[in-house]
Amino acid sequence: MSFVHQPKGRYDYLIVGAGFAGSVLAERLANEHKARVLLIDRRDHIGGNAYDELDEAGILYHKYGPHIFHTNSDQVVDYLSQFTAWRPYEHRVLAQVRGQLVPIPINRTTLNMLFDAGLETDDEAAAFLAARAEPVADIRTSEDVVVNAIGRELYELFFHGYTRKQWGIDPSLLDKQVTQRIPTRTNTDDRYFGDTFQAMPKDGYTAMFKTMLANPLIERRLGTDYRGVRGQVDAGHLIFTGPIDEYFDFRFGKLPYRSLRFDHRILDQQQYQPVAVVNYPSPDTPYTRISEYKHLTGQTHAKTSITYEYPAAEGDPYYPIPRPENEELFKRYQALADATPGVTFVGRLATYRYYNMDQIVGQALATFRKMDDKRRLGGPQESAVAAA
Ligand code: FAD
Ligand code: UDP
Repeated sequence: MSFVHQPKGRYDYLIVGAGFAGSVLAERLANEHKARVLLIDRRDHIGGNAYDELDEAGILYHKYGPHIFHTNSDQVVDYLSQFTAWRPYEHRVLAQVRGQLVPIPINRTTLNMLFDAGLETDDEAAAFLAARAEPVADIRTSEDVVVNAIGRELYELFFHGYTRKQWGIDPSLLDKQVTQRIPTRTNTDDRYFGDTFQAMPKDGYTAMFKTMLANPLIERRLGTDYRGVRGQVDAGHLIFTGPIDEYFDFRFGKLPYRSLRFDHRILDQQQYQPVAVVNYPSPDTPYTRISEYKHLTGQTHAKTSITYEYPAAEGDPYYPIPRPENEELFKRYQALADATPGVTFVGRLATYRYYNMDQIVGQALATFRKMDDKRRLGGPQESAVAAA
């Protein structure tokens, strides 16, 4: 059975970007609609920022920094479980603060270690934090949300330096959603995430993507930038998962994205640090965190692989920067996108949202459902920016 509503083109869909957004849609459209898909990426691999591979020592590492899967969505888990088995893994992070490695998110153990506070119950920890908290009437920024909850001293120790390094601006200029990702706990739960499902794809992300994209109706062209093929691919509909401002040739100016430089190292020792990620919030340390992959993958090896993350203004766009003026600029591009027929914008860069992997999978599945509904009703695919 061939695809019903786009019969003319060589491809029913051209999908730009083989990360989660592009790959989920390629898989759905090929497997469910029997659509012919051309999937391109300017990188020489699939998987987007979740890509992992063996390094020179044969250790599985994440080329674009540590990716830990966690979600509260059964729908997302059920969907991805078609393409991978899982390795149970609960992420734990320590922060180097005042010469100690202490749990982050801040919990009762953190407070006892830093302040010798002798807190024994949740209530005692809550009272300790309440005494330090500096209530902010109108919580808008990444500074407000932390200072309001735990006060300035802990904010300075854990959040101020890290956030300045990571984003290149003061937390008082960043939307609250950034530091709000990190809770504060009064118990001794030292897991980084509280989600119901926390696990790593058993054979890694790239293996999962390979299975996802196995349908021969999906043709891949890697090392191919959209700019090089624009107007030359005979496809009924375009799905774009790259930066939305780039698609429109930066017509209204550049949307700011924060980048990173990854310094990958192979060390001649079995283990480097006690947990997968150690954060370095101090402004005196140029990197934000060090990750050690064997904790994530469970791989046994005589050597170990680690990555230093250095925040950067220039380079690949990794993080949309949540600030009111950036949201305004994005909205102008979004209006342009809504008025551009035949193109759907989906993914972290195209919808300019600081989304985790599971949220992108959810967004792509919702986008597919809309396409599916339209197809059943017999209408053409319209342009759209996927709902945030
Ligand atoms: P991407 O993965 O960025 O894929 C977009 C693809 O489009 C890229 O491969 C790019 O090369 C390609 N592309 C762009 N423009 C063009 C063009 N013009 N032509 C051709 N190809 C193009 N999420 C979690 O859930 N857990 C984590 O632990 C986690 N850690 C992270 C750590 C770091 C350092 C970063 C940067 C992100 C992390 N994330 C994490 C977020 C996660 O990476 C994203 O949610 C997810 O990868 C987004 O998928 P995507 O398909 O939207 O975008
Ligand atoms: N953050 C911080 N100190 C930490 C950990 C996080 O200040 O020790 C802030 C920082 O602004 C960071 C944000 O919280 O960018 C979100 O942290 P997360 O670990 O979720 O970042 P990601 O893994 O997405 O880079």
